Amino acid sequence: MRNTLTLIFIFSLSSLFAQEPAKNMLEPCGTPAGISPWLRFYSDHKAEMEYRSNDTLWVGLQAHLLARDNGTGRFPFDRFMDALCRLNTDFAESNIQFYLKDDINLIDNSAWYAHTTIPAGIDMMLTNNVDDAFNSYFVGNPAGNCGYNLPYGGVAIGHSCASASDHTWAHEAGHALSLPHPFIGWEGKQYNYAIPTPTSVTYDYTYFHDTIDTQIPAPLDTALVEYVDGSNCAIASDLICDTKPDYISSRWTCNGQGMSPAIQKDPAGVDFQSDGSLFMSYADDACQTRFSPEEIQVMRANLATEKANWLGSAPQLGEITQLVNQISPIQDQVVPVAGTQLVWSSAPNATHYVVEASRFSSYALREVEMITSDTFVTTPALLANRTYYWRVKAFNAAHFCADLSESATFVTAPTSAAFEPDSEGWRCYPTVLSPGHVLNLEIPESWLGKTSKVACYDVAGNLKWDSKLLISGYKMMLQVPLENWQTGLYYLVLSNEMGIKRQALMIAK
Ligand SMILES: [Zn+2]
Repeated sequence: MRNTLTLIFIFSLSSLFAQEPAKNMLEPCGTPAGISPWLRFYSDHKAEMEYRSNDTLWVGLQAHLLARDNGTGRFPFDRFMDALCRLNTDFAESNIQFYLKDDINLIDNSAWYAHTTIPAGIDMMLTNNVDDAFNSYFVGNPAGNCGYNLPYGGVAIGHSCASASDHTWAHEAGHALSLPHPFIGWEGKQYNYAIPTPTSVTYDYTYFHDTIDTQIPAPLDTALVEYVDGSNCAIASDLICDTKPDYISSRWTCNGQGMSPAIQKDPAGVDFQSDGSLFMSYADDACQTRFSPEEIQVMRANLATEKANWLGSAPQLGEITQLVNQISPIQDQVVPVAGTQLVWSSAPNATHYVVEASRFSSYALREVEMITSDTFVTTPALLANRTYYWRVKAFNAAHFCADLSESATFVTAPTSAAFEPDSEGWRCYPTVLSPGHVLNLEIPESWLGKTSKVACYDVAGNLKWDSKLLISGYKMMLQVPLENWQTGLYYLVLSNEMGIKRQALMIAK
């Protein structure tokens, strides 16, 4: 595992969820029906295949967060962390845990962000998948579904089905670890109590009709219908015995006992109700709480064999139990419109932080949304004379459940004039600096390639520090070693044969 997630910085400048279908407009799951060859083999060789160890299985996850071509619409990082927290909570009983194997992959592609067909999603996955990881794509619209899994690809999850209380990701991860629906064979069919239940149902298991031959009827497979008495449970339906009969393939709400209000009858005429507690059912998210013990055995065996390449060693990272505290700016402190450093306290065990700033206390629109391994970020140019809210959430590659901090506030200065670049393009910020923080230099283009002198003086004119600096770009970062300096006012001077540039700096500890 790579321990450093590189700095990610995005601006979300338009409404995040515009044009994304609401959850109730989406089908629960678009995963093609089917029993994988691995599950058939497992079912025939359960005794030898059973994975007996109780150790935690750590699954390497590669996350892909999609946005439109212009970078808008991406799933907010803090909500993504909430979804990860939910995924690991849902898998806690199975002792399977997911960790971020590498950086979150940010993809800007409108056609993939809201794809209308699953083959478009296949294209997205085959283009972007990384090897040896559980690839998960968060998109605005996964082909009209809450989510789907492609056995050779990854899972796609719709933003509107990925709240902290939704179980779509767990459901699709269950598919990815070879679990079928408990109602396999009934997908797309309307169960009718008035009609005798057949002993078998056929189902369509592929999306590739148009690439095969449109003249050939859709390929079909057969599932035996499961009896209530369990007599055929090992060979019927999902081949899993402790998921009881279920023939409901549209979204349903459970009753107070967590069961389907709809009464069904098996081929022998025995009445039953479906179990809404199963993540792999189509019961509402509020009903779902678990994988069955046998489903857990199947997933663990699948990870130990077919998906062993997804497993990694346990990340040596503890839970994050302490909230982040914002240090500066807080309590409506007035700050420059650009280049303000947002500074917070580190949280034990945290390696990274999500930082957000918004003009709205709801954070409906986020001018700053970043992931960083530092405990500070520098703001871009914001609007003048506005109150901004900002908050921080700590995480590491294996723990995502820390709460967001409370919001702190700052107010931008009434005018941005003082922080505009001069006529040659020179600008230096932030103007309030603490040890370890970097200065951003914007340098006249005509200075490119020039070796320059950079120096800092105190207010009495004493040289505190100087260095040679080759101007390698018109935007550069500079770290001044000011650990042992007194707090107060200093002057930075940058000079070469082209001229001289100055900036007053306030050093704060
Ligand atoms: Zn499904």
